[in-house]
Amino acid sequence: MNLILFGPPAAGKGTQAKRLVEHRQMVQLSTGDMLRAAIASGSELGKRVEGILARGDLVSDEIVIELIENRLPEAEAAGGAIFDGFPRTLAQAEALDIMLKGRGKQIDLVIRLKVDDAALIERIAGRFAESGRPDDNPESFKVRLAAYNDQTKPLLPYYENLGKLVDVDGMGSIEQVSAAIDRALKERCGV
Ligand code: AMP
Repeated sequence: MNLILFGPPAAGKGTQAKRLVEHRQMVQLSTGDMLRAAIASGSELGKRVEGILARGDLVSDEIVIELIENRLPEAEAAGGAIFDGFPRTLAQAEALDIMLKGRGKQIDLVIRLKVDDAALIERIAGRFAESGRPDDNPESFKVRLAAYNDQTKPLLPYYENLGKLVDVDGMGSIEQVSAAIDRALKERCGV
């Protein structure tokens, strides 16, 4: 099974992806984590993307598509992928469909965590102090939210037209959101 966790920055995608990994035979594929690992390792790629992440802009489609492509065999061997923070553009979504199709697979469900803007700002404000992430600050968060609204949110109709989109209320506690995701998976995928 292949899932996409979809939603704005600070919606809880990473938290929920980690919980799904604990309970199901799946691998979390977070392009943000992969890019942060590249930066931490001091690699060529890390040097190229460091400033982009700190600003809150999106890195190029080619970079993240390649990162994901490299990890698909591992995810497939584990039983499926939870895509967290990918795709973020239509080009990425189309590339993902093609890569999966080439492996005889597909996206089974897109779970959209719905969190209103006021709650997001409140969450992220709490995180600024403790996260240590260079993009968790008011300026970068504004850019990240704008990138989501301008480039990522337009993907919703793409997945809706494919009949793969399900909305989950992301405003509750971690446990409440997890339970809502489990219900959606049972209803829509029978698992
Ligand atoms: P995240 O951890 O998902 O919030 O991602 C952190 C940052 O990594 C984003 O603000 C972007 O700069 C970059 N990034 C992560 N995933 C993508 C993606 N799919 N496309 C473009 N940039 C990405």
